[in-house]
Amino acid sequence: MPATLRAIHADITTLSVDAIVNAANNSLLGGGGVDGAIHRAAGPELLAFCRTLNGCATGEGKISPGFRLPARHVIHTVGPIWHGGEHDEAALLAACYRNALELAAQNGVEVIAFPCISTGVYGYPPALAAPCAISAVREALARLPSIREVIFCCFSEAERKRYERALGAL
Ligand code: ADP
Repeated sequence: MPATLRAIHADITTLSVDAIVNAANNSLLGGGGVDGAIHRAAGPELLAFCRTLNGCATGEGKISPGFRLPARHVIHTVGPIWHGGEHDEAALLAACYRNALELAAQNGVEVIAFPCISTGVYGYPPALAAPCAISAVREALARLPSIREVIFCCFSEAERKRYERALGAL
């Protein structure tokens, strides 16, 4: 069975899935936006665990338990900061999705939810990020048959609609 891809409008910290993805920063020591929300909901154990991970390079991923979250794991990835689009931003954003999915599959994750990585403080234009995310996920899933469902967890209804349109069109 091919994996299901869908878009929802939700707070990612509320999802009872095998793994949620965190749009973290290179330190993995917490920040604002979705990162702050995940750390608040997971509790201080998450920060203590993240201190042992030695940070994360842009485009790569590290895994932790979900602690007090309903999700079993958190996969921390670091999206690129948007600098106009000619600084490898698309390749790095695609790498975030690909590496998170590979790490997920290695850890027995079947259902995973992603936030819209880099589209907040990091400034990646949402209209460009969505097709990049969807193509990267589709490409990776072709090699990772154990993943059953990928949820694009949008933080606004407008963003959910954008994903829904792009999922239908791409
Ligand atoms: P980045 O630094 O990668 O841009 P941000 O956290 O600033 O990360 O934003 C990434 C995306 O996550 C944005 O679309 C933002 O609206 C969204 N976001 C913020 N909080 C949450 C949340 N609790 N659940 C899901 N998405 C969220």
